This record gives sequence, C-alpha cells and structure tokens, in this order.
Amino acid sequence: MDSSPTQTPSEKLEAWLRYYDDLNLGAFYTDRRTMGRRSIKSAAKNVLASSPAIEPAIVSDPPKVAVPIIKPPVSVLHVVNAPSLFEAIDRIEGDTLERIREDLGECTRCRLHEQRNKIVFGAGNPRAELVFVGEGPGHDEDVQGLPFVGRAGKLLTQMIEAMGLTRDQVYICNVVKCRPPENRKPEDDEVATCSPYLYRQLDAIAPKAIVCLGGTAAQALLKTKDSISRFRGTWFDFRNTKLLATYHPAYLLRNPAAKGEVWKDLQKVMAHLGLQPKKSSS
Ligand code: URA
Repeated sequence: MDSSPTQTPSEKLEAWLRYYDDLNLGAFYTDRRTMGRRSIKSAAKNVLASSPAIEPAIVSDPPKVAVPIIKPPVSVLHVVNAPSLFEAIDRIEGDTLERIREDLGECTRCRLHEQRNKIVFGAGNPRAELVFVGEGPGHDEDVQGLPFVGRAGKLLTQMIEAMGLTRDQVYICNVVKCRPPENRKPEDDEVATCSPYLYRQLDAIAPKAIVCLGGTAAQALLKTKDSISRFRGTWFDFRNTKLLATYHPAYLLRNPAAKGEVWKDLQKVMAHLGLQPKKSSS
C-alpha cells in the first residue's frame, strides 16, 4: 500500500481504501441512503468529513507509517447496496413478471424508444435461482425481442451450459430494455428510467444469485462508477441477494484470454448454487 508521512489524512485514507479494495474486501460507504456514484477518492473524503471516529495511530505491518485507523462509526458500512429502508419500501408485495411487463407497456419513457424495434424485457425461468443481467439489447435482440440471441448470446449460452445449466433454467435480462442506437452504452438517465423495472424483475424472481455481465450492469446495480476490473469476482449484497460481476461475453469475444477469469467467477457462483460443472462428452 502506498503511504507516506507527507500524505494528507484524506490521501492516507484513500490509500487504505485502495489497499482494502486490492484485498477484495469490497467498498465502504458512509451512508446507504446517499450511496451515489462514488469513487474511492470521494469515499475517502466523505468518510473523513463525516466520521469523528478516525484517529491517527502508528500501525505496523502493513503499513509502517502513521495512518488513520478507522473505527467504523455506525454509519460506515462494509457492504455495497445492502437493502436500505427506502429500497425495502420499493418492493412490491406479490409482484410478478407479467405485471411488470404490463406496467412497462409500449414504453416511451426515454429516448431509446424512438429507434427500437422490439422491447427486450427478459427471458427464462421466472423462478430461476440464477439471473444474468446484461447491458442492453443489440441488433439481433432488437429484431427478435429476446435477450442475448446474437454472437455474445451464443457465448453466454455456452457459459451457462458449462455451469451445468440450460438457458431455460436461468433468467436473462438487461439494464435497459430498448436497443441503444449503434449499440452505444446507455446514458445515465436511460439507465435511471429503466432500472426500476429491472429491480422489480429481480425482486419478483428472487434468485439465489445475480450475475452482472459487464460494467454497465454492475455499475447500475451497485451504484458505482468504478471499473469492473476492480471488483469482478467479488460477492456483494444486492437487496439481500448475492451479486457478482464478471466480464461481458462481448468483451470475451474481443479478449478470449479473459475467459479464464470469467470461468473462475462462474465457479464461485456454481459453488454458491451447489452446481457441478457439465461433464464433457468426450
Ligand atoms: N448484450 C447485452 O448486454 N444484452 C443483450 O441482450 C445482448 C447483448
């Protein structure tokens, strides 16, 4: 961990948070209600600003210089997106995928409706133990109205089958339900408009695990702007459900060398779900 006696308290705390992050200990938030899009830098500033329980002390091994010791005040949480009072209120008792689809209707709530062909709501088992969340429909999905049916979708199918499951056993959906023009990333306001429906889908299915495919899905559900490479393969709590992010299959098509890391991530999910990998037929 980088730390030097000339660092300000904020820089020292930032270095500590990075150190914890490198150890995969997750992120710190000062207040769940204000969990906005934060970087480690701003989290360090906020913790310092709000916490009376930080005092300089000498700590050995590591690091060997004076650093702030954080005695977590009640409001410092070592979880991401644990259910807050407000999120609990958002849950709709007895909600179903059919009702959510009905409420979505022929949505025109954001500009993405203008160029879409079909809404891609989601597909799979409404009682799935495992839900995959992608970014948004591409061309093939927009034409068919189904998620992950293009090239990336074929790779996702292989990943699911390697886990010993079929596509029918899991549920697959996206952060935004309409194709962004030219497959651009969805804008923040588009994500904000569509995510209540994703939240309702996840609440209605109540899976044992959620796998975010790529940074957009992970950032939308974990409310962070950090790069997925910093937290992929780490379990988080999302409204009382275990959530893990891994690389998007489209990224794997461009970077096949990353498949090993994704397989390690999926093995964690399999262990959580008690799944055995598919036996090869040879
Ligand atoms: N990429 C996604 O994120 N979602 C899809 O449905 C297809 C490709």
